[in-house]
Amino acid sequence: MAKLILKRGRDARVKGGHPWIYRSEVAEVAGDWRTGEAVSVLDGEGRFVGRGFYNPRPSLVCRLLTRQDEPVDGAFFRRRIAAALAIRREAGLVSDAFRVVWSEADGLPGLIVDRYASVAVIRCLTLGMTRCRPWIVEALRGPEGLADYHYGHDEVTAGRLEGFEPLRGWIDAAGPPEIEIREGPCRFVVSIEGGQKTGFYLDQRENRALVAGLAHGRRFLDVFCYSAAFACQGLAAGAARAVGIESSPEAVAFARRNLALNGLEDRAELREGNAFDLLRGMERTGERFDLVVLDPPPFTRTKAALEAAARGYKEINLRALRLLSPGGIVATFSCSHHVSPAQFEEICRAAAADARVTVRVLASLTQCRDHPILLNVPETRYLKGLLLEAIS
Ligand code: SAH
Repeated sequence: MAKLILKRGRDARVKGGHPWIYRSEVAEVAGDWRTGEAVSVLDGEGRFVGRGFYNPRPSLVCRLLTRQDEPVDGAFFRRRIAAALAIRREAGLVSDAFRVVWSEADGLPGLIVDRYASVAVIRCLTLGMTRCRPWIVEALRGPEGLADYHYGHDEVTAGRLEGFEPLRGWIDAAGPPEIEIREGPCRFVVSIEGGQKTGFYLDQRENRALVAGLAHGRRFLDVFCYSAAFACQGLAAGAARAVGIESSPEAVAFARRNLALNGLEDRAELREGNAFDLLRGMERTGERFDLVVLDPPPFTRTKAALEAAARGYKEINLRALRLLSPGGIVATFSCSHHVSPAQFEEICRAAAADARVTVRVLASLTQCRDHPILLNVPETRYLKGLLLEAIS
């Protein structure tokens, strides 16, 4: 097997438990290597560190899959996927709809698997991982019988970066284009073939339950509502009414169906449009809410655009705080990788100062535990949230 040898003095991160290797850290790739195939990684002193797929095209040329001297084969994927399932089962997270595999955090960098009832959606982010898809499907099919159908939904940007044709389609037998899942007391229609992400925002599952617990009797505003998952959970838990704001007409159509599916449409209203404009308009007309969720898309995907993103976050938080009744609660989130929890808190503090509202932090929030966080790999924590209560 070909060997990737790290530069002396540039191997501390990898040895410290982080799986990423950048081109600038590589001294040499020796032997007969092929793009996307596994290589043995050696440190600056020539000691074995682990194995990963090597791809010279992106600057992130290799992500370690294992630190053992073991082949990356079908049995390897069976072991890794079984381990991922085991920790979720132990944590009580296995259900109708959950994240089965979360890339680095499950020792399978470049692979995401989500389960939606009888469908597993498989997302490959590296060229090497796309070649392992048959093993992945076989492991998912395994004794657990996790899903009947397997849908490939690769990211276009990852394909461009890594040099592979992103798959978007059924891997073996064609399954249902839409599927109904259960989350707590609610049912949701998930679009497998046409949805955002892999179909549903599974990362907010625990936060939706938390917010629902606060919703009884309150006027609820669900900003950036997608398919109305927060709104449905809030209404099911007894919210007096809910307003959902969403700019995508396709998402609004799903939101409408989900509200109806749960018999909640009488207490709900959906407003299609740009949240920034709609929130400003609502402030003018004097509408007020007792509970607000702000779950925007990543306002930046690059470090360079951080300042503009921070302005965007501040503005929506400021507007949400102004729409809040005294004693009202905001659950505010950022899923931008480049915004740190400390920066996010600073943005919310600035918004509270401008809104002249004193807020108490009821909780710090993050992604659902089926998207585990590795302390050694800070990139595995991307969702940040604050549950804030206006006290004056
Ligand atoms: N809260 C949702 C997930 C939200 S994802 C859930 O729990 O399922 C962010 C959503 O914001 C996406 O549906 C996207 O279409 C929408 N969006 C993006 N920009 C927007 C804007 N300027 N105004 C309103 N909605 C927007």
